[in-house]
Amino acid sequence: MTQITNHLPTKELQRLDAAHHMHPFTEDAALARKGARIITRGRGVWLTDSEGKEILDGMAGLWCVNLGYGRKDLAEVAARQMEELCYYNTFFQTSHVPAIALAAKVAELAPGDLNHLFYAGSGSEANDTNIRLVRRYWDVKGKPGKTVIISRKNAYHGSTMGGGSLGGMAGIHAQGGLPIPDIVHIGQPYWWAEGGDMTPEEFGLLRARELEAKIEELGADRVAAFIGEPIQGAGGVIVPPATYWPEIQRICDKYGILLIADEVITGFGRTGNWFACETFGIRPHIITIAKGLSSGYAPIGGSIICDEVYETIANSGDDFNHGYTYCGHPVAAAVALRNLELIEEEGVIDHVRNVAHPYLMERWQALADHPLVGEAKLVGLMGSIALTPDKASRAAFASEAGTVGYRCRERCFANNLVMRHVGDRMIISPPLVITPSEIDALIDRATRSLDECHAGLKADGLLKAA
Ligand code: PMP
Repeated sequence: MTQITNHLPTKELQRLDAAHHMHPFTEDAALARKGARIITRGRGVWLTDSEGKEILDGMAGLWCVNLGYGRKDLAEVAARQMEELCYYNTFFQTSHVPAIALAAKVAELAPGDLNHLFYAGSGSEANDTNIRLVRRYWDVKGKPGKTVIISRKNAYHGSTMGGGSLGGMAGIHAQGGLPIPDIVHIGQPYWWAEGGDMTPEEFGLLRARELEAKIEELGADRVAAFIGEPIQGAGGVIVPPATYWPEIQRICDKYGILLIADEVITGFGRTGNWFACETFGIRPHIITIAKGLSSGYAPIGGSIICDEVYETIANSGDDFNHGYTYCGHPVAAAVALRNLELIEEEGVIDHVRNVAHPYLMERWQALADHPLVGEAKLVGLMGSIALTPDKASRAAFASEAGTVGYRCRERCFANNLVMRHVGDRMIISPPLVITPSEIDALIDRATRSLDECHAGLKADGLLKAA
């Protein structure tokens, strides 16, 4: 057992946590009764909790710690930058070295003519920026009526008023008066749950063509942009059928509407390329980034903007009246820059493509033989399995959606594996540096958890189709 860092006993930490710390996306009173799991340390793909348990982090934190935990080189860069220049703003005609260097690096890595970076502190903030960018773009172009942004049901684009509105999560929309005006949602390309008797390819086209129908319904003179995650992450790691993105691209081109790819999860190597737009052949005008930009070592995000959108707004003769105190924060930018350099120097994307993905793919797909598992999907190091009482009919469980997924996640926790559930789908997104032997540990723990979950469902009579 790893030595436990000196801290208060777990019970006391849980008491203070419950008394003063309100958690995101949490029913706090229920958590207070149970007590939060307290994480004290991280090394590579491993976490340690306050009881000294070693946990394999199959989610890289929240899809972000791509280089793994505990990198001294990143800590040193942060410390040096804090001493040199801890903060300065980028408003009022000033700039600083980390913001300049990182923007140049991101422009070098980004595909096509995505050459301009507007900084934010998070993915949600960056998507708020995107709403203002695309509306401003069309306004400057003399088309102020083009304000509508089309997104998808079950998309996740953050939880600010703008990000939560762009997202298509019913639970978020149900609280706080979302979505804000002029954001509309079409169906998602989720073949497993919604594709019925169609082939995945037919279904991909059908869902993409909802975009065309929506543009026709609203009028192209009203539509500013379409936004989508190349692979829906928080929605359940939903990999669209191969026909989907080419058709979305065709429709955006045909109607001349802007295309925003939200790569907050998929950016910086997650799918085996720097950007998932390369993996799927998408040509966006704007890419949203955060998370893997700094491997989660510092909060930073942004919008990478193509020449046309940038130049239109930059040459409007007016300020773009938008910005955050922490735009391009020097410490976060310095850490992010070093993170990107390390991904290059250590060949992390080659490792994903040539080692980790092929090995995990073999073992992940074999999970589909488990009695509880329907499809098993994996792109790069982003994977999901659908839990089902009947593979042949792709049936949902009779119990309320999420009941079985929650039980499976609890078994994973008990087996010291972080694997998340979205409804009755289990998802993984481990650090990109995961090794084959760590993948073995992940699969062994996942299999044990599935076995235990299956036995529990049987015992409780819950192996029933809806
Ligand atoms: N977009 C996507 C695709 C995301 O997955 C997330 C976070 N999970 C966000 C935006 C929001 O990012 P943040 O939590 O940093 O605001």
